[in-house]
Amino acid sequence: MPLYEYRCLICDETFELLRRVEEADEEAVCPRCGSEQTERQLSLFSSSGSPSARGCSTGFRRGFT
Ligand SMILES: [Zn+2]
Repeated sequence: MPLYEYRCLICDETFELLRRVEEADEEAVCPRCGSEQTERQLSLFSSSGSPSARGCSTGFRRGFT
């Protein structure tokens, strides 16, 4: 299940949710203020996250089988 990052448009809180792909576009409720006015951040895969944090779950290891 992929991890999605959302940002609250009301209080500017950012939070992450593990959701199914088909649920990714549904509204996420802000854990801080309870607002549903949130937007999904799309930069998760290309920016944050060190290689050690990403682990071995990506396609990186496929070349080593
Ligand atoms: Zn909020």
